[in-house]
Amino acid sequence: MKLSVIGCGYLGAVHAAAMASIGHEVVGIDVDAEKVRRLSAGEAPFFEPGLNEILAAGVESGRLTFSTDMADAAGSRVHFVAVGTPQRHDGAGADLTFVNAAVDALAPHLGAGELVVGKSTVPVGTAERLRPIVERTGARIAWNPEFLREGFAVADTLTPDRLVYGVTGGSDSEDVATLDEVYAPAIAAGTPRLVTDFATAELVKVSANAFLATKISFINAMAEIAEATGADVTMLADAIGHDARIGRRFLNAGVGFGGGCLPKDIRAFAARAEEIGRGESVQFLKHVDEINLRRRQRVVDLLVDSFGGSVVGRRVAVLGLAFKPDSDDTRDSPALDVAVRLHGLGADVVCTDPEAIDNARRQHPQLTYERDLDRALEGAEAVVLVTEWREYRDLDPVAVAGAVARPLLVDGRNCLDPVAWRAAGWTYIGLGRP
Ligand code: NAD
Repeated sequence: MKLSVIGCGYLGAVHAAAMASIGHEVVGIDVDAEKVRRLSAGEAPFFEPGLNEILAAGVESGRLTFSTDMADAAGSRVHFVAVGTPQRHDGAGADLTFVNAAVDALAPHLGAGELVVGKSTVPVGTAERLRPIVERTGARIAWNPEFLREGFAVADTLTPDRLVYGVTGGSDSEDVATLDEVYAPAIAAGTPRLVTDFATAELVKVSANAFLATKISFINAMAEIAEATGADVTMLADAIGHDARIGRRFLNAGVGFGGGCLPKDIRAFAARAEEIGRGESVQFLKHVDEINLRRRQRVVDLLVDSFGGSVVGRRVAVLGLAFKPDSDDTRDSPALDVAVRLHGLGADVVCTDPEAIDNARRQHPQLTYERDLDRALEGAEAVVLVTEWREYRDLDPVAVAGAVARPLLVDGRNCLDPVAWRAAGWTYIGLGRP
């Protein structure tokens, strides 16, 4: 099928390449000329495992092209809208400028029988609001929220755990048949597919993220209690996680969540709920956000305390900048935030990350970056681990102790073994652990 994907960022570029890899003819449209240039050369403009391979194969096959010209989307049967919906500069709500601009720019190129499919995460009511703009052209609109996880984006796009179609015509509608054709391999593999109205589809996405954020903040709240009582939050998580109703996943206490989705999505959800007169229903999300942000400061405070109240001039190696491992994404990254806070307190911070240095440097050029892990550790008076990349989890405490000036470690992800690190002479400080 001929498809277009409007917006080729973390979501759109993966979606375009994945759709080409299952046999569709795809054109990706983006306003960022440099991004389009790199994508056209079959090169991923950001780090995502497996993306380069399917991108290069798609471009090579001739089925995958990219353009800055919206006119190139003309003639596609389905147009996916995957542009960003960041937090507004002047408030907590979602900035819909990009979605509105994309749909407005696409409209003159739409034809009868074509389907515009929103994938961006939007406040409830957005699809209904855009509907007349699309339907005036003879095309139709559906909302098909995306649940991919950065770091697993290719696999999540090709083999999603569920598909949600928000449509106007119900299960038997032509729009459902069209989307089933787009996702034919996933449908054939028995992927659960839920057909809903617009509002439900939009809310599925934000409520899923609200739930995940709440689960993380719940365990981080328990970490705060553990810190005051001498309990161990990791043991607590293991113990409650054995209850199948609770489950162990997303129960790792640490520096908290970040990235281009969870933080802005819970804020946008709360803001939208206020607008529709139901602010009270999701008021708890404000606490979820606050608990999360408190953990960043907690990492900083633990370090400051271990230096007796001041980190001025202290050499600190910060391991990790991306908001999670296997990604170069530093949007609202707790790791980068911790580095910035320590720098602000006068510490001599050296930051490292396997993939995220370029993005971090663009956001915070004032920080010192070092690509080489060994050099970043050299002479450090403290090590702060804030993104749990495999190479950090696999560090040998004995070897690292030999490189640093002082064996002091704050494990902001509770991902190292305190027994092994202490045995190697380290002062190990975890979050919510004695
Ligand atoms: P992103 O910022 O990486 O990508 C957005 C892209 O849209 C950019 O390349 C930008 O240049 C382009 N763009 C902006 N305006 C445009 C326009 N008018 N026409 C064409 N292109 C335009 O953002 P992202 O992380 O890919 O997120 C996109 C959407 O997907 C958001 O709503 C996000 O919440 C949602 N989402 C993201 C993820 C994820 O893991 N990143 C997962 C699920 C859902």
